[in-house]
Amino acid sequence: MKERGKLTVYTGPMYADKTTHLIGHAKEAGDNGIVFKPSLDDRFGGGDYIRSHNGEAHQAVLFDAKKPAEILKEIAKLEGISQAIIDEIQFCASDVVTILEKLLVQGLNVIVAGLDLDSEKNWFGSMQEIIEMADKVVNLTADCDGCGGDATLTYSKVPKEGVVAVGAGDLYGAACESCYGGLSKS
Ligand SMILES: [Zn+2]
Repeated sequence: MKERGKLTVYTGPMYADKTTHLIGHAKEAGDNGIVFKPSLDDRFGGGDYIRSHNGEAHQAVLFDAKKPAEILKEIAKLEGISQAIIDEIQFCASDVVTILEKLLVQGLNVIVAGLDLDSEKNWFGSMQEIIEMADKVVNLTADCDGCGGDATLTYSKVPKEGVVAVGAGDLYGAACESCYGGLSKS
């Protein structure tokens, strides 16, 4: 039996350069790694990219955020993959936790990035469970829009009607605990 893989989680608010770290791992892994990104619409397959805020990009395979089991199918098609890299994992349906466990049991090292909290300070998707099962958690911070200090939170710049997921650029910013209340419009 293969040795169990290790799970590394990069987390923090928006604009914390989480994807930059994933791109670094992807480059290092080369042909032994594969990068995935959940799709919230109906675009799936190859030919997509993960992008960092500083403009770096790396090829990624899109999968249906509601069907994270597609990750297993995609990896089964390939040989020599030892590392699975998944961006924006907070958007995945809750069975992603089971999928991660299967990848680790198969001996793959798994590196994921995701927002820990949504703009209401609630756990985003399955992030709490994913962080609890991680071998290593890297908490990243962004620059606070209010004071320029370390931001650990994502805030909404516009009032919300109903529950809208964090994702789009201009609608959200990063804040520290002290500035969050003054900046948040949600
Ligand atoms: Zn601040």
